[in-house]
Amino acid sequence: MPLEAYYGLPTEVVFCRRCLMTNQKPHSVNETTHTAASRKATLGFDESGLCDACRYAEMKDQAIDWDKREAMLHQLLDRYRRRDGGYDVIVSGSGGKDSAMTSHLLKYKYGMHPLTVTWAPHMYSDIGRQNLQRWIDVGGFDNLLFTANGRVMRTLTREAFENLYFPFQPFKFGIKFWAAKMAIKFGIKLVMYGEPYIEYGSTPMDDAASPALGLNYFVNDSKDLYLGGLHLDQLKDKHGLCDNDLLPFMPLRSHEVQGHELRVEYLGWYRKWDPQQAYYYAVENCGFEPDDERTEGTYGRYSSIDDRIDGLHYYSHYIKFGLGRCTFDASQEIRNGHITREEGIALMKKYEGEVPRRYMAECLDYIGIGEDQFWERTDRARSPHLWHKVDGEWRLRHPLPPDAPEDGPAANRGYQYLR
Ligand SMILES: [Zn+2]
Repeated sequence: MPLEAYYGLPTEVVFCRRCLMTNQKPHSVNETTHTAASRKATLGFDESGLCDACRYAEMKDQAIDWDKREAMLHQLLDRYRRRDGGYDVIVSGSGGKDSAMTSHLLKYKYGMHPLTVTWAPHMYSDIGRQNLQRWIDVGGFDNLLFTANGRVMRTLTREAFENLYFPFQPFKFGIKFWAAKMAIKFGIKLVMYGEPYIEYGSTPMDDAASPALGLNYFVNDSKDLYLGGLHLDQLKDKHGLCDNDLLPFMPLRSHEVQGHELRVEYLGWYRKWDPQQAYYYAVENCGFEPDDERTEGTYGRYSSIDDRIDGLHYYSHYIKFGLGRCTFDASQEIRNGHITREEGIALMKKYEGEVPRRYMAECLDYIGIGEDQFWERTDRARSPHLWHKVDGEWRLRHPLPPDAPEDGPAANRGYQYLR
């Protein structure tokens, strides 16, 4: 009998033979369909044991004709470029490395006229706020910053934490829906993101063939919408919210998009994307700065640093799927040839599963719970097929790939480390 697996995860944990990802990573979905009972597809593997993200990395190196893609990009942009003084493309972002590079290339290399739009984080970090301002001031962009009603955002964060153990969900509504909504509002027909989801295997492999983000990520025509894991009607009743309170979190309807001929694409489909290169580009051209401290749970300082709740977001991912921030970072760098698999394993042993203490008190205050409640909910999120208790401490059953050497500091920091 296999052990019980929550969230519809595969009961057997399989590691990629190249990077450090497992088959437990769920695909990205339209969050308004997400309930506690949702069962998502997860990271795909081929017969040789290579994950989709690594397969895509191989395509980038060997199969894709980047000159042809560049020509396709020129054609696309020529079709949308305006010469009447209007905006012709929306770039959604925080002023982080990827949005900085995307917008800067579009404007200064390809002669487009981007309007940058930002969905504010739950709680800005100082470095996140600074990088947004630098993007505008040093990069040179018009920017529209939208900040959702803080009380509604907190309510949704609390519900998403309680019902889904996914405190970051309210931000996901924003980054997936807001750019498309603003494009329609401003009469702009093109939206450009940076990295394709397939870079991380967050979508089916078939998506690698198209530069477009599927409509289903920001359109939902169902009358049954879910926010924070609750049905819209239930959420409104429970918290006395009206339609207007929830307006920013609503998906688009397909007729709104079709009537507008909206295209939502990834620049990273047309140009070979490398996060490290994006970092250097953003530093040089948009005044981007990394954090002054190492990011908890990993070894880097420049990815996902805008929101004080980022650390908790990645930690919740580690608890639910056994995949933390260090695994993502190291896997991506293995794929891009910056580190070896052995170096990645050493980094995992050191950092994977570290509790994000830096902003924890603020996060708990924001969600409106005490520490005991936090750990109680955290422990309920641990799927039996991933976690077990050893000498009273929670341990991952499969903290490292089977080929990892056993020496060095123990991976899988336990419960006692957290308190
Ligand atoms: Zn892989």
